[in-house]
Amino acid sequence: MTIRVAIAGIRGRMGSTAAAAISEAAGMKVVAALDYKYDGMYASEGTVTAEPAGVRIYTSLVELNEQQQPDVLLDLTDPEAVFPNARKAMALGICSVVGTSGLTIEELGQLQELSEQKGIACIIAPNFSIGAVLMMKFAAQAAHYLGDVEIIEMHHDRKLDAPSGTAVKTADMIAQVRTPHLQGHPDEQVHAYGARGADVQGMKIHSVRLPGLLAHQQVMLGGEGELLTIRHDSFDRKSFMPGVLLAIRESMQRPEFVNGLEHLIQA
Ligand code: NAP
Repeated sequence: MTIRVAIAGIRGRMGSTAAAAISEAAGMKVVAALDYKYDGMYASEGTVTAEPAGVRIYTSLVELNEQQQPDVLLDLTDPEAVFPNARKAMALGICSVVGTSGLTIEELGQLQELSEQKGIACIIAPNFSIGAVLMMKFAAQAAHYLGDVEIIEMHHDRKLDAPSGTAVKTADMIAQVRTPHLQGHPDEQVHAYGARGADVQGMKIHSVRLPGLLAHQQVMLGGEGELLTIRHDSFDRKSFMPGVLLAIRESMQRPEFVNGLEHLIQA
């Protein structure tokens, strides 16, 4: 069986890279693009054309579903678009694979509810890179022993949301094993707003945005007289593609809600 994939965000950097990777992968193909403009035009190799090349663009998921019957909607859009896209997809019986960051805890809860209600896959991947998923797992493992943690996430300066979904997910994974406690000096005085970063589950997250960066994260775990640093770097969007293909394949096998690729890999 060939898995039929529709992509929301196909004109973007991740979406166009994913379209190429899916087209080259065995057992799946891109059948359509969901967009908020260019209805009836075609998306081909990251560009939009009036010529029938690549896949057709739809602005209505209902129409896309009727004409192209996708099995999976892969979302690589932006924080505003992702929630309604995933919700509509599941309501139509289309599995949802979400790479877009910026979903709130409430939205994640609603997607989980819908996925369970409909018995359909919704796979949320704050980070599709297998190396980054391992970095998060290793950090959670280390936090059993070294519970004072700060996270520095570094991304390109076109990223819309902060802190990154990966950093929040890392803090969540660590929070499950770390005994909650106050870090830093109890009488700490902050003289410049934001100097100590964002507080997520009692840990600080520092977000760096600079041209030249792609996606990088360093988890620092401090102990008496020692520091453990666990770092991961994505230098190319190709680093996300094995995880994208894995999530698409797994969505056909697991009619459930999955938050994080760590649940799909053996490590
Ligand atoms: P990007 O280059 O800006 O691409 C996003 C694309 O989505 C743009 O072409 C945008 O169009 C389009 N878009 C916006 N609203 C849409 C809608 N309602 N329907 C369809 N398309 C829509 O961004 P990117 O770097 O590819 O990243 C996309 C998302 O993936 C971001 O949330 C990013 O944080 C996330 N990401 C995830 C991972 C992961 O491993 N999970 C890795 C990298 C990035 P316009 O330009 O016209 O607005």
